[in-house]
Amino acid sequence: MQPKALILFGPPGSGKGTQAKLLRERLQVPHISTGDMLRERIASGDHLGVQVQELMQAGRLVPDEIVNQLVADRTSQADCATGFILDGYPRTLQQAEVLAVQLRQQGFKPVVIHLKVDYTKIIARIAGRRQCPVCGALYSLTSNPPQRPDHCDLEGARLVIRDDDKEFVIRERLEAYDRQTRPLLDYFAASGDPFHELDGSDGTPQEVLASVCSVLNLE
Ligand code: AMP
Repeated sequence: MQPKALILFGPPGSGKGTQAKLLRERLQVPHISTGDMLRERIASGDHLGVQVQELMQAGRLVPDEIVNQLVADRTSQADCATGFILDGYPRTLQQAEVLAVQLRQQGFKPVVIHLKVDYTKIIARIAGRRQCPVCGALYSLTSNPPQRPDHCDLEGARLVIRDDDKEFVIRERLEAYDRQTRPLLDYFAASGDPFHELDGSDGTPQEVLASVCSVLNLE
């Protein structure tokens, strides 16, 4: 069977990261989050991290060439040979076009899942989001709280609010999504590749996962 590149698409806060982590366990393929990769570069303080930090903290997209290169480098590693899950990429038409060429050359079949969630729910959801600064695990104060308040179940580290999860930044990120990313829906719909839309508004992460698995024909 041709290896699949699963593209999880949707606005910030639609649950892409959570679903990607659950699907990684299920499919045993790497989860590639451009947001996580960029945050790691900021934390490491390298040249690229310094270059993107301001844009990310302002809720704006980083330049296409940077993320295209990060994804091309990551997907060409050996552990991606049987497939991978993209979370937060592509986010612009230019990224989608570059990715399409790359996937064709590497022999991957793209499958797009669009998680639809309305914006008022997103703002409430992101405002309650917490992350472990050590392992990246995500928690929600409402739907998936840590066992011990404010601490990671796995690492015990004190959970943090990501800089770009502050409310004014969330609004900026949603605007960037509307302006630059949402138009990709027409591109995917016209591409001829499998394209599935799911309601990500209600239900637990496991319930949304069940819908994702069902459209992917996974047991
Ligand atoms: P995320 O964790 O996917 O919501 O991404 C957090 C931030 O990283 C975004 O608001 C952007 O500043 C940056 N970012 C992540 N992925 C991309 C991408 N594909 N293109 C441009 N910027 C990105």
